This record gives sequence, structure tokens and C-alpha cells, in this order.
Amino acid sequence: AKFVYDFTEGNKDLKDLLGGKGANLAEMTNLGLPVPPGFTITTEACKTYLDSGEEPAALRDEVSAHLDALEATMGKKLGQADDPLLVSVRSGAKFSMPGMMDTVLNIGLSDKSVQGLAKQAGDDRFAWDSYRRLIQMFGKTVLGVDGDLFEEALEAAKTAKKVAVDTELEAADLKKLVTKFKKIVKTEAGRDFPQDPREQMDLAIKAVFESWNGERAKLYRRQERIPHDLGTAVNVCSMVFGNLGPDSGTGVAFTRDPASGHQGVYGDYLQNAQGEDVVAGIRNTVALADLEQIDKKSYDQLMQIMETLENHYLDLCDIEFTIERGQLWMLQTRVGKRTAGAAFRIATQLVDQGLIDEAEALQRVNGAQLAQLMFPRFDDEAKVEKVGRGIAASPGAAVGKAVFDSYTAVKWSRSGEKVILVRRETNPDDLDGMIAAEGILTSRGGKTSHAAVVARGMGKTCVCGAEELEVDTKRRRMTVPGGHVVEEGDVISIDGSSGKVYLGEVPVVPSPVVEYFEGRMHAGAEDADELVEAVHRIMAFADRKRRLRVRANADNAEDALRARRFGAQGIGLCRTEHMFLGDRRELVERLILADTEAVREESLKELLPLQKQDFVQLFESMDGLPVTVRLLDPPLHEFLPDITELSVRVALAESRQEPHENELRLLQAVHRLHEQNPMLGLRGVRLGLVIPGLFTMQVRAIAEAAAERKAAKGDPRAEIMIPLVGTVQELEIVREEADQVIAEVEAATGAKLKLSIGTMIELPRAALTAGQIAEAAEFFSFGTNDLTQTVWGFSRDDVEASFFTAYLEKGIFGVSPFETIDKDGVGSLVAAAAKAGRATRPDLKLGVCGEHGGDPESVHFFHEVGLDYVSCSPFRIPVARLEAGRAAS
Ligand code: ADP
Ligand code: MG
Ligand code: MG
Repeated sequence: AKFVYDFTEGNKDLKDLLGGKGANLAEMTNLGLPVPPGFTITTEACKTYLDSGEEPAALRDEVSAHLDALEATMGKKLGQADDPLLVSVRSGAKFSMPGMMDTVLNIGLSDKSVQGLAKQAGDDRFAWDSYRRLIQMFGKTVLGVDGDLFEEALEAAKTAKKVAVDTELEAADLKKLVTKFKKIVKTEAGRDFPQDPREQMDLAIKAVFESWNGERAKLYRRQERIPHDLGTAVNVCSMVFGNLGPDSGTGVAFTRDPASGHQGVYGDYLQNAQGEDVVAGIRNTVALADLEQIDKKSYDQLMQIMETLENHYLDLCDIEFTIERGQLWMLQTRVGKRTAGAAFRIATQLVDQGLIDEAEALQRVNGAQLAQLMFPRFDDEAKVEKVGRGIAASPGAAVGKAVFDSYTAVKWSRSGEKVILVRRETNPDDLDGMIAAEGILTSRGGKTSHAAVVARGMGKTCVCGAEELEVDTKRRRMTVPGGHVVEEGDVISIDGSSGKVYLGEVPVVPSPVVEYFEGRMHAGAEDADELVEAVHRIMAFADRKRRLRVRANADNAEDALRARRFGAQGIGLCRTEHMFLGDRRELVERLILADTEAVREESLKELLPLQKQDFVQLFESMDGLPVTVRLLDPPLHEFLPDITELSVRVALAESRQEPHENELRLLQAVHRLHEQNPMLGLRGVRLGLVIPGLFTMQVRAIAEAAAERKAAKGDPRAEIMIPLVGTVQELEIVREEADQVIAEVEAATGAKLKLSIGTMIELPRAALTAGQIAEAAEFFSFGTNDLTQTVWGFSRDDVEASFFTAYLEKGIFGVSPFETIDKDGVGSLVAAAAKAGRATRPDLKLGVCGEHGGDPESVHFFHEVGLDYVSCSPFRIPVARLEAGRAAS
């Protein structure tokens, strides 16, 4: 295999092999943009190294050959004493993991070549600044020295010189600092800072490989669901220098606003600085627009390049650039991360610009983003004290207790507190705390600061660069304008959509997107907001494309009506057990414990009209749309008194010598019906077969309710669903009885009801014998919650808390199989059962009614295996509609 690609050899479609950064550096190179020459070591090389602990044999030679070529192009050798070629060694995986892995700049500098660099540049200060940066970065990332030690030494140098920022240190100061840094390396790493440039480069390459498995990187991948086995590529890129004085600098930019999608000039620029200074918020940056004043030529060129990139990638791009003495260099680009709202707006903007079509627009958004837009926001009308305003970096409304370090954030959130992580700026070590917090507030850094980039990626509320807040992390407090002090534990609220910071708890209001789905805000209206407009259009694209229908899981009229407003095309699962709770519980208890026919009949008779009324309302609210009613499913014990409590009552009565005959009888019955594994016990169709009259009562209630709706000129479309069927015989028996009841009701009312009868497929045996079961079923609804439990052999209630975390950490699951369908196992049963069912009955209707029905990835799967509909909770319906549309385009 070829392990090394020159920038001229790659392209943007080689992300698997070259990582995102490498693939796009190559793409820009081939577009003729000014990219410093270099080469990329593939992810394959990284994987081989990580698997075997050794670099693949051919790698060293290939690197040498590419380095020779690079040296020839540049006309100087790596670390050459009188005029050194310097390179950066940069990580870059397939998916962007900002700041999660390592990069080392200025490789090639040594005690000798630093002199040569100074002479060539005519600038001592610059050369020594570059050298101290190399030792610092190399020490920290390659040799594992605690980075704080370098920071402290740098601070000490500034204090000694009585200056505020590093640019005010002079060559002599930096020279001393280099000596200091080398000493730190020697003591901490037990070795000298390597003077051989090739050794520097090789060690840095290995360190980048290894950073793939760093704790930070692993945590980030888990959070972002990036597979652990991709590995990172390594980019070796000749250095360009932003720290060569005021006519040099470095910056980051977006081709449009990643928060709103608006076109314009968005980014940050820092004069006389190198690489990470911008992102780290070391000094305050200026707005990109100010670059026009500073260096008009480079600014114009940059604007031109941004346009080229947008038209080439047909999307928002973010970029890193450096200006070296008036010469612009492109150091990175990628299709940029954006907020959920911006994703919807940009997708429609690009359609309007004629750059992409509707199908492509659907690929530019996703269900997770839509779900995020459905979160509530702060109430603008609320009387609260605004104390600061920063940059709206990642939208949402977050309320919590202020904490000033990551450790406390994690600790407090574990004990159930909501916290806001407040920092001057964040760095990758804060990742744990950022995950634990409701929101993130920083006093420094722009839209491209670490806090902003990572929060946006996580969909977490973030306000950054709120400069008027004085954050003192050491004393765990922050001073707001006017002098008020917020101590650790004080409640604050931050609005990531406006950038506002408030003291105390601000009440929240529903999101405009929900208001829109609820029909309380209309697209096309004069004052409709841009976001609602974009969501409206994208939903229309999705509805036009999708083949899957979307139904709701709902068991009362209120939920059903909301579901309809959200676009539900029926009810896929009405659970009847909720209708048996509350006052009716006693009736059910009597029914179950009945020892004479008379008692049983009596309780059924009392239940019938109550059930019927439930259905009349439900059918009315879903008039004209299918409503699948599932007959009683839950295990018995849910309707029986608690066995321990009852035992105590009996024992107490006994000791007091009070009469307790009834309790005793009840206790005996409860003992008789007690089960070790109720979820695998007497429930679903088994209950229906064991308790005479129960299912027929329910069927009668459905039939009579339908007849009543017909009489009222309604259009009821009930479907009767039998749960937990394992064999066709069970279904046949229930069906026969049901058909008879329906015929009776039809005869009595003169209505033609057209009720269909089907079953859930939620046991492996049902799936395996689906061909037979389809003979007695007009529809299947896959109950993928139970099917997941029974296929894997674990009980959801028990295992999620106990070993799932361990399984996720060990990578046995990427995600809980209850959240996203396990395609290989459970999914293949679904696919096979669907096929077998349709072989028996070609017009068999197929749906799914587990939680998976509203999970984006699962919706795609159900589309692929040819189901007719998914059913999910009312709130997830828009997400399911969108994903069904995406799946079909
Ligand atoms: P990350 O993935 O964390 O952004 P990068 O590899 O992009 O890491 O590098 C970190 C910083 O160093 C970036 O600001 C980048 O622009 C800068 N940088 C990387 N390589 C060079 C180079 N050859 N010359 C100048 N600056 C560089
Ligand atoms: Mg970068
Ligand atoms: Mg079930």
C-alpha cells in the first residue's frame, strides 16, 4: 500500500485515507489556491502503527522520499543550519475533532538552525519566538510534559519584564525562555530536547498517531459517535509564519455566519501571531472585517478565495489562513459546522441560489438538528437582570448554577444539579465539564474559539467572549459590570441565541418551531421568522419525497390532536393499559381475581362502557385516519396489589386478631399469580387467552365506538392489534372470537365496520414464523422495544443502568440498541419477517411502533426494508417525517 500522498496527489473525496484536513489541503492545492507544499501520511499507516505498535516498514522510506521532494521544491533542507525548512506535523482524521488531537509547529528548529532562521528573516525575535513555541508544543504533546509548566515560565517572563502580552517580549527574553524551556524538558521528560530535525519529525508523527487514542479524543468520539477504528492521518506541511511582525498574522473565517447562515464577513484575525493563538484566545482578536484596513490586498484575495470555496463545495466552509509579510496562505478548509438553525437556513438559501436541489437540501439537515430547534427558549418578556452580553456561539436557553472548573461541573451534575460552566476560555481539558454542563459561558474568544466550536458540535448552549464579565477561576467567582459578584453555586441563565447573560433563573418559552408545528405561528406570515420559514420549506421537501408514512403513539384525544397538528397520519399504537389505571384499577383487580363467572362478567360489564367512551373520543380526534388499538398487554402484577404490602397488612391484622379474610384471599391469589419474570410471563395475548371475556370486551368496545362514530357521520378507521403473539394459533383463536363479536355489533347496529385485525411482531418466534402468522394477520407492527429485549435476552429496565455504560466504553455498542435499532441482529429479523409476511399476504401492511420509530438512523433502516409506516411519540413526528424524506432522497 501507498502510505504517503503529496498534497498534489489527493482530493476531497479521499477523506477515509487522508483525513478531512489532508483531503481538503489537496483539494485546495489542486484548485490552485496558495497552500504551503507538503504531504499526508494515511490513516492506514496510523492504524497499522496503533495495531502493531510499530510503524509499517515501508513508511520511513516513503516519508524520506516525500521529504526529499519537498526539500527540493522549497530549495532548503529540513532544519538546515543556515536556512532551515520548517514544517508542521498536523493530525487530521476523517471527521473533524477540533483540538482533540495533536499538532506541532516549527519542526526543524534547533540551537543551530534558530540562528539561521533569524538571519534569513532578519528578525531575531521571530526566530526565538518560533523556537520557544516548538519546545513548548513538542514538550507537551510529544514528550508528555505538563503544559502548565511552560505557561507558568512564560507568565513569569512577562511579569519580570512587566508586560501584558507575549508580543512584548524581546529576542533576549525569548532566548532566556528557551533555555528555561529546555531545562523543563530535561527534568520532566528525562531527556534533552532533540536537536536532530528528522528525529523531531519522526517523534511528532508517532505522537500524532498516538493522540488518536488520547483520553480527550476518545471521549469526543463517544460523544460524537465517531467510530474508534478510523485512525488519523498526519499532515506534514511546510511552515508559513504569521509571527513575523505586524504585516503578518493568522486567522479563521467562515464563508457565512455559522449561527444564522447569513452571508457576510465572519471570522477573527490576530496580527503577529502563529496558529493556535487565535483559537486559544491568548490575545484578543479583531473582527475579520478589520483586515481590510490592515492589509487590503490579502483581504481582497481572501474574499475571492472564500467565494471560490463556496462555489466549489456548494456549502458553508470554514478556513484557517496565515499572512506572512503580506502573502496569504491557506492552511485548512472544510465544510463548516453550523448551528441547527443555520443548517436549515443555509439549505434553503443554497436552493434559492440555484446551487443545490431539494433532495440535496434534505441531506444538509437532519433530525437531530430539528429536535434541537424544538427546545424551548427564554421568555423575552421576563423581568430579569441582564448582566452581560457575549457572542451568541451556540443556541439554546440554559439555566444552572455557575461553576468555574470542569471537575466541579462533573461532580455537581452527577449529583443532579444543573450547572453552567464559566471559564475565561476553554481548552480540550474542559471537555468533561462541557459535556456535564447545561451551557458554557466564557469571557474570551470569538465564534471560532474552542468553547464555541465544541459547544456547537455538541448542540450545547454557549455564550463566549462576554468581555465585561471578569472571570476569576482561582477564586471561583465572576464579577459583573456594576461590581456584583457571582459566586460558585449562584444561578445564572445564558441565551446562546442572543448572547445575553442573566442573573438568576429566566423562565423559558416554547421554540418558534414548535409554535409553528402547533399551528400558532405561520410560515409566509408577515412577521414569521426566517427559521420557521426555512423549516416549513424543508418539511415540505421531505413530505414530497418520503415513502414512509408517519403515525403517532398516542392513547388519548389530546395527544392525538397534537400528533395530527405535527403531521401524524394516524395512530400506530394506542396502548389500552393506561385506560385501566386510576379508578378503573379496582375493576381490573376484581376481574383478574374473580373466582366465579358471575363476578368476572360483572366487572367486564362495568368496564365496557368506559372503554368504549375512550375509543369514541380517540376515533373522533383521528377521524379519517387509521388508529391501531393494541389490546391489553402489560404483565399482571401491574394490576395487582403489591405483595409485600399485602403481606404486612395480613400479618398486622393477624397479630391484632382483627378479621382479615378478604386480605388473606387476596394474598393467596397474588401468590398464585406471582411471577419471577413478569415481562416474560402472563401478559399480552396470553392474558387474553387465559381471562375469558377480556379481549372480547375490548373488541366490543372498539366495534361499538366505531359504530357510534359512523352513526355520527364520522370516518373511524380502527385496527385491532394483538400483542406478544408467538405462534399463529394464538392469533387464530383471538381472531375467531373477535370476528364473532364484530359481526354481532355490525348486526346490532347495521354498520359496516371494516375493522382489520393484525399483530405485533415482538418475539423472535413470531418473526421466524411470520409467514404463517401473516395468514391470520392483516397487518404487522414491529414492537422493536420488546423484540430488542427478547433477541438480546436482556431486560431494558435492568440493564441500561447496570452494564450498558461498560459496553459502550468497551465499544461493544456504539449506541444503545434501544435507542437505534441493532440492524445486524434485531433488524435482520425485522427484514426477514417483513419479507416472509408479504410472501404470504402481498398487501400485508407493515409498521413499527417502538421507540425506534422516531430515531433518525432507525427510520432510514425501516425505509430500506420496505415498511409502510413508522409510529412514534407525538413530539418526534416532525423528526420522523424529515428523516423519512431524507431516506428517500
Ligand atoms: P487543529 O486540527 O487543532 O486545528 P491544525 O493542524 O490545523 O490543528 O494546526 C493548529 C494551528 O496551527 C492552526 O491554527 C493552523 O492554521 C496552524 N498551522 C498548522 N500548520 C501550519 C503551517 N505549516 N504554517 C503555519 N501555521 C500552521
Ligand atoms: Mg485546524
Ligand atoms: Mg411489547
